[in-house]
Amino acid sequence: MNPVPAPPEGTAAGRQRLSIPPGRLIVLSGPSGVGKDTVLQELFRIAPWLHYSISYTTRPPRPGEVDGVAYSFVDDAQFQALRDGHQLLEYASVHGHWYGTGEARVRDSLERGQDIVLKIDVQGAAWIRPRVAGAVFIFLLPPNPEELRRRLTERATESADSLELRWENARIELADQDRYDYRVVNDDVPRAAREILDIIERDRPRADRP
Ligand code: 5GP
Repeated sequence: MNPVPAPPEGTAAGRQRLSIPPGRLIVLSGPSGVGKDTVLQELFRIAPWLHYSISYTTRPPRPGEVDGVAYSFVDDAQFQALRDGHQLLEYASVHGHWYGTGEARVRDSLERGQDIVLKIDVQGAAWIRPRVAGAVFIFLLPPNPEELRRRLTERATESADSLELRWENARIELADQDRYDYRVVNDDVPRAAREILDIIERDRPRADRP
C-alpha cells in the first residue's frame, strides 16, 4: 500500500499536522490624524513577529513615502484591474482616493499561522466584519476631539481643502467606534501600542510565539 503523502505546509491539513494555530486578522481603524502609523510603528517594534498588510492606493505618494513600504502606489487603471480581477479582500474610496487590501498576502499569512494587521477605514472594516470569522477589530481614538483637530491642522502634508475633508471624515469615522471590539486611546504612543499588543495576545494559543 502506498504511504499517504504528508499534506503541504500552509494548507489547513498541514497546519493541523504541525500544530500551527491559524493566524489572526487584526483590523485597526481610526480617524485621520489620530496617529495610527506612529502607534503601528511602535507595535511592530515591540512585536516584530506581526505582519502588516501593505494596501494598494491611488493616492499619490507623500514626500518620503516609498512604493511598497507604506503603500503600493497604483494608478486608477491598475486599481480597477485589481478590483475586477478579484484580488482585493476589501476596498473603499477614502478622501477621494481608492484604497484596497490585497487578498493573497492576507490569506497566505493567515494560512501560515501569522497574525496580520490591516490599517483600514471604517468602510473596509464594515465589509470584513461579517465575512472573516475571528478577526479582531480595534479603533484608535484621540485623547479628545480638540487634540485631533490640532493634529490634523499640524499635518504639514495636507492642503487646506484636504484638511477640511479629513476633519469631516474624522467625525464620520468616530461615529463608527462602537462597532469595534476594542477602543484604544492614543494618549501615549508606547502605552497605546502595548494595549493593542495585549489585546492581540489575549486568549490566543502561544505555540507560534518566540
Ligand atoms: P492615508 O492616505 O492618510 O495614509 O490614509 C487615509 C485613510 O485610508 C486611513 O483612514 C486609512 O486607514 C485608510 N486606508 C488605508 N489603506 C486602506 C485599505 O486598504 N482599505 C481601506 N478601506 N482603507 C484604507
